[in-house]
Amino acid sequence: MIYLNGDFLPIEEARVPVLDRGFIFGDGVYEVIPVYSHKPFRLAEHLLRLQHSLDGIRLQNPHSDEEWGSLVEQIIASNDGDDQYLYLHVTRGVARRDHAFPKGVIPTVFIMSNPLLAPPRELLATGVAAITADDNRWLRCDIKAISLLPNVLLRQMAIDAGAMETILLRDGFMTEGAASNIFLAKDGVLLAPPKNHLMLPGITYDVVLELAAAEKIPCEVREVSEYELRTAQELLLTSSTREIMPVTRLDGKPVGEGKPGAMFARLYRLYQSYKQTTMRG
Ligand code: PMP
Repeated sequence: MIYLNGDFLPIEEARVPVLDRGFIFGDGVYEVIPVYSHKPFRLAEHLLRLQHSLDGIRLQNPHSDEEWGSLVEQIIASNDGDDQYLYLHVTRGVARRDHAFPKGVIPTVFIMSNPLLAPPRELLATGVAAITADDNRWLRCDIKAISLLPNVLLRQMAIDAGAMETILLRDGFMTEGAASNIFLAKDGVLLAPPKNHLMLPGITYDVVLELAAAEKIPCEVREVSEYELRTAQELLLTSSTREIMPVTRLDGKPVGEGKPGAMFARLYRLYQSYKQTTMRG
């Protein structure tokens, strides 16, 4: 079952008018929330980021956190599978086509669930390949906007090159992946770019930094140059659906020794045990 504007129904029966501003302009925002053992992971943080995205596009939040919590619970319960990922989507609603904000329009709210599959063990053992590209997106990458055309094109560049992700560079500095955040490791130090308007403030990114701090792993959150990216001993990719993955090839060359390293192994273990505690809690 999916949720659409007050109704729970099978996805095949869900319909959105063609004049929805999500369809016409990509005028909306979204969230992706992992669910482990029927429990949403970091729900409060995802709802906070949703609020930030809505504020960023000047759209009033159609629901209170309690209402979102209840909708999320109902969607989880109506779908099979312990592990799911929820896709929440809010657009500015249906109106005659005009760029300017329409008045008195009700936002469209859509929630669906999909099965959440852990990254395959083989990929965690070998690591994945990434390529680099110029970050040609806009300057509000902190908003989780549904208008994802640049991300779609950048990700496809990776797929066409036989890689999994495209790591983006802007003015000589790394921002993030086309659909992930990127960490570096060098000499036992974990390095991450700071959260700002050039990247999405990843929920997994925050978890990784919290876990590293709790374990006293030295961390530096600062701008990361292209040179540092290309000379890193390890590269890690994070996202809600892919958790933490090692990137072992960059633009066809090995990263460090070309295999998952000690920082990945440590953070992966910490992430898995943190997940376990949130499932019990
Ligand atoms: N950056 C971008 C551009 C993303 O699309 C995503 C999520 N797919 C992330 C970072 C990671 O964010 P999160 O950890 O909240 O999934």
